[in-house]
Amino acid sequence: LAERLQHTIDKMKSRGKVTEKDVKEMMREVRLALLEADVNFKVVKKFVNDVKERAVGQEVMKSLTPGQQVIKVVNDELTKLMGGEQSKIAHAQKPPTVVMMVGLQGAGKTTTTAKLANHLRKHHNRQPMMVACDIYRPAAIDQLETLGKELNMPVFSMGDKEKAVNIATKAIEQAKEDHRDYVLIDTAGRLHVDEALMNELVEIKEAVNPDEILLVVDAMTGQDAVNVAESFHESLGITGVVLTKLDGDTRGGAALSVKAVTGTPIKFAGMGEKIDQLEPFHPDRMASRILGMGDVLSLIEKAQTSVDETRARELEEKMRTADITFDDFLEQLAQVRNMGPLDELLAMIPGANKKLLKNVQVDESHIGRIEAIVRSMTSEEKQNPSILNASRKRRIAKGSGTSIQDVNRLLKQFEEMKKMMKQMTSMQKGKKKRKGGF
Ligand code: GDP
Ligand code: MG
Repeated sequence: LAERLQHTIDKMKSRGKVTEKDVKEMMREVRLALLEADVNFKVVKKFVNDVKERAVGQEVMKSLTPGQQVIKVVNDELTKLMGGEQSKIAHAQKPPTVVMMVGLQGAGKTTTTAKLANHLRKHHNRQPMMVACDIYRPAAIDQLETLGKELNMPVFSMGDKEKAVNIATKAIEQAKEDHRDYVLIDTAGRLHVDEALMNELVEIKEAVNPDEILLVVDAMTGQDAVNVAESFHESLGITGVVLTKLDGDTRGGAALSVKAVTGTPIKFAGMGEKIDQLEPFHPDRMASRILGMGDVLSLIEKAQTSVDETRARELEEKMRTADITFDDFLEQLAQVRNMGPLDELLAMIPGANKKLLKNVQVDESHIGRIEAIVRSMTSEEKQNPSILNASRKRRIAKGSGTSIQDVNRLLKQFEEMKKMMKQMTSMQKGKKKRKGGF
């Protein structure tokens, strides 16, 4: 599908404003991409309609095609929908901060409790305590205690005979005594949402007044995630979501659905079974993943942040006439540093031929050396490399700490690049004639 999206983007080469036709064509693909990522269909419908309205009539950025521009809008809106900025875990004025972990059985509550404890200690310098409140599942308490030992982190438990609400209440007293500043309560889950489960959770909530109720959702559950999130939110009023098992091959459409129905942010993502595989959730990265076109999106982002629009236009003009100098080359290298491979940069320039681009590969590990060589040239040499005789080359090699071979290689590369640009430009002209301009 990502390929089809790219194809649709490629087809739209006209410039200027985004037209209704551009948007319609793109949004058909986007809709499919979202459904394929398991985003709830109602969420998809609303989203697609919202974005359509926003995208039509937009100015197309110089470095993008209308197709890419629409994708940019889609990506921006997806990111916004998932919370925009990254969102942090609560921190109570008066310690301890109480966090309740809730969710269905097998979602990853116990694992995430330990991961979160580890994260808080490692990255926030906190001293958490974990509480074993799952008294129903055999071995659930053992599981948490084993994780606690592994982390060398205290686990409060009273076995499986005491009521969960009493365990939670006692745990908080203990945490205060021991000066633990976070209390993470691991609760029981069921295979399906049921009343008894909810009642118990509500009871705990009322007793401990948590600062944060995190719903742990298995990203693989797809469409089902919506119903789960809805009922937990309705009964408990969750404050955030942890999406687990994102290391699987799911595109993670659940993220979008869950955020859409609860309105609460996704705070963390589980990226594996190991204890350190928990990451703060990044809405922008998730948006790319859901769309399934990370490459296109990162390119758009790079284009946006690194290329000065007017400068890009000048460069395009220079390429047209193949009138590029070493000064331009140096400047380009600086941009390449910010943007990634030169061939990708060139590929973004409309009219660039992908097959030709395969021949101009700049090995990035050599960029530093290339820079040094160009900087060792006089401005006359930079403008007019043909004056570079053996003794000049020797001087440059010495000045840049490279060898004459390096200098020669660069000169050759530069010539090839110019040649390629000329070819590209004449091809573009040819196309123009056939099509009568574009
Ligand atoms: P609970 O019933 O909600 O407490 O779920 P558990 O914490 O016991 O986790 C259920 C299973 O999911 C265990 O085998 C975990 O190792 C696994 N698990 C939890 N989080 C992740 C994750 O982010 N990635 C992967 N691959 N597995 C996970
Ligand atoms: Mg558990």
